[in-house]
Amino acid sequence: MSIKERLEKIKERVFEACLRAGRKPEEVRILGAAKKQSAEKIREAFAAGLTLIGENYVQEAQKKKELLADLPLEWHLIGALQTNKARHAVKIFDLIETVDRPAIARELAKRAAKIGRRLPVLIEVNVGGEETKAGVEPEGLEALCEEILALKSLELRGLMTIPPFRPRPEEVRPYFAKLRELLAKMQQKFPEAPLKELSMGMSHDFEIAVEEGATIVRVGTALFGPRPQ
Ligand SMILES: *Cc1c(COP(=O)(O)O)cnc(C)c1O
Repeated sequence: MSIKERLEKIKERVFEACLRAGRKPEEVRILGAAKKQSAEKIREAFAAGLTLIGENYVQEAQKKKELLADLPLEWHLIGALQTNKARHAVKIFDLIETVDRPAIARELAKRAAKIGRRLPVLIEVNVGGEETKAGVEPEGLEALCEEILALKSLELRGLMTIPPFRPRPEEVRPYFAKLRELLAKMQQKFPEAPLKELSMGMSHDFEIAVEEGATIVRVGTALFGPRPQ
């Protein structure tokens, strides 16, 4: 199957999930998770109608962005960010989805201010409480929101999660529901903040994520095919 055919299939499945959940399909954006995929594949996806790209590594994103500078793509960082990469990250990405601690928020704020930018961010939440996973624990979310909302060069747009892997996608549903509930709580606590994004769901489980309120689904292999090693 071509990338164009795969994207059509994914769009259909998002559409069906929206119908089941009584949601509007235009509330859900498909992000192409492009780690290890070539710039040519991204170009092919753009030609098929994809405009939102997610990258895990700052350097890899920088290279591909240069190769694709002629395309009006939107770039999100969806991988872990180290403090020493923040300076580059604020120049490359339109939005950073993986803010999970005050230190990285402050560093991004400082670097964004320096180049005169207000940088949109999401907070990554460790909804499964897994020790090996990045993300703030649900108990620490409110405090981190407060920290970020005090940083005027950052704009907090919502939450992101990578839930525990479960062989059956249906078993992931409670984690997606939990992220939705956490967003609702934060919207109540901070009514002035533009909190609306829920970035959740990958190739394996994006339909369940859409049923539970995802506004961004991050689809890699189902769109681009298997990742080259
Ligand atoms: C790789 C990746 C994805 C996409 O994973 P697939 O299973 O290939 O769809 C989504 N989100 C993040 C953070 C990733 O690193």
